[in-house]
Amino acid sequence: MEQKADSSPTRTGKRVKMKALSLWLVTCTAVSSALPFHPEKDNEEDAKLVQNYLNKFYAVEPDPNQLGWKINAESAAEKLQKMQQFFGLKVTGKLDNETLEMMKKPRCGVPDVGLYGFTLPGWKKTKLTYRIVNYTPDMSKEDVDKAVEKAFKVWSAVTPLIFTRIHKGIADIMIAFGTKVHGHCPRYFDGPLGVLAHAFPPGNGLGGDVHFDEDEDWTTGSAGFNLFLVAAHEFGHALGLSHSNDQRALMFPNYAYIRPSESPLPPDDISGIQSIYGSPPNAPDKRPTTPTSSEICGSQISFDAVTTLRQEVIFLKGRHLWRVYPDNSEAERELISAFWPNLPPGIEAAYENTKDQILLFKGNKFWVISGYQVLLGYPKNINTLGFPKGVKKVDAAVCNKNTGKTDFFIGDKYWRFDEKRQSMEKGYPRLTVDEFPGISQRVDAVFQQKGLFYFFHGPKQWEYDPIAKKVVREMKSNSWFHC
Ligand SMILES: [Zn+2]
Ligand SMILES: [Zn+2]
Repeated sequence: MEQKADSSPTRTGKRVKMKALSLWLVTCTAVSSALPFHPEKDNEEDAKLVQNYLNKFYAVEPDPNQLGWKINAESAAEKLQKMQQFFGLKVTGKLDNETLEMMKKPRCGVPDVGLYGFTLPGWKKTKLTYRIVNYTPDMSKEDVDKAVEKAFKVWSAVTPLIFTRIHKGIADIMIAFGTKVHGHCPRYFDGPLGVLAHAFPPGNGLGGDVHFDEDEDWTTGSAGFNLFLVAAHEFGHALGLSHSNDQRALMFPNYAYIRPSESPLPPDDISGIQSIYGSPPNAPDKRPTTPTSSEICGSQISFDAVTTLRQEVIFLKGRHLWRVYPDNSEAERELISAFWPNLPPGIEAAYENTKDQILLFKGNKFWVISGYQVLLGYPKNINTLGFPKGVKKVDAAVCNKNTGKTDFFIGDKYWRFDEKRQSMEKGYPRLTVDEFPGISQRVDAVFQQKGLFYFFHGPKQWEYDPIAKKVVREMKSNSWFHC
């Protein structure tokens, strides 16, 4: 097969043509220096590739009103930044060779943005059917059947899911090979290389269906594209997973050959799928990498950070977060990375501001999140909030919705930030215990609900009335989990 991707080093240093971009840069005015590309040399092929890539994989976002998708109005530079952030490239918003090379790699056709949060919680049943609608001439039918069966086993081995093959009628997961415009599929294939396959998240109709690009060379080995590996990735989407930015994960969007016999499912994928379906019923103890509810209910449980998000309370610890709805006894556990892509584990502080955004802190960095989207331009340094250079991290933070003031707790002191003016107030830091009598220990986490503050330190929690200025009661840190 022609390896388009390998010919790319000869293109080093070329920039893409302005003309091709003018259509989708309509919102960008008089800031030529901020444009991602420069019209110095013509290379229409690259320009088209970049445009297609960003529109295909970085242009959709969840529409909160429709529970569907809408095309977002971000500029090309913003989309490019997102792409660079996802792949761990230098985030410049400009096209460099490294970025171009990454875009030329064969990959999955499912977008990298927009799916997070909305595809959960997956199928509402554990018994799923699949049907192989047609076959590729590249392999024997028997080998295709085997690759598909093995790819389902990857997921059934770590979940309660059971996959049954049917030979006619409508299955939950319809598997087909096609080229360019195929069937009633709204997504088209692109000929050899580029997009290899795509899949649809759980649902009726096209939901759960998986399509492979027949213009690729499908194989059982390392030449061409290994059908088992691509199928296992696509089935992840069909079960509700979105792309991972962990390069070792099966759900990383780019194709990489690994010898199937040497590839147990990476931990990121296991945590992802188990956060939707749980672990297999007969192996409840085989989840060493993920804390179980028994750990949440342990007497020594502490949290890294806690914040409200509208009606919910979100508890963060390590790689996971738990969503607690006050009126619902079931806490939902999710991977932080599945909920907000690109955020690291071990978030140290979090709070919801007066604009329904949440701010997450780790070390000297912080991120601002609106809905399911991490806002562009983040992480930023906490010094941009007005902390002096010497401040290297925040232990906990809470915004008092009644006053519009946010308190940042660091060690035994706190700082006060005015959300309206977006500036740090003068005369801080002050001793925490002076403003909050009874809160004499370092604050691990804190949040506000119904006017009251809840302070956490280790396995303890204090309910605090800011008007009466006193601790109302002392509780265990996991009192919100109905243990
Ligand atoms: Zn994919
Ligand atoms: Zn399709």
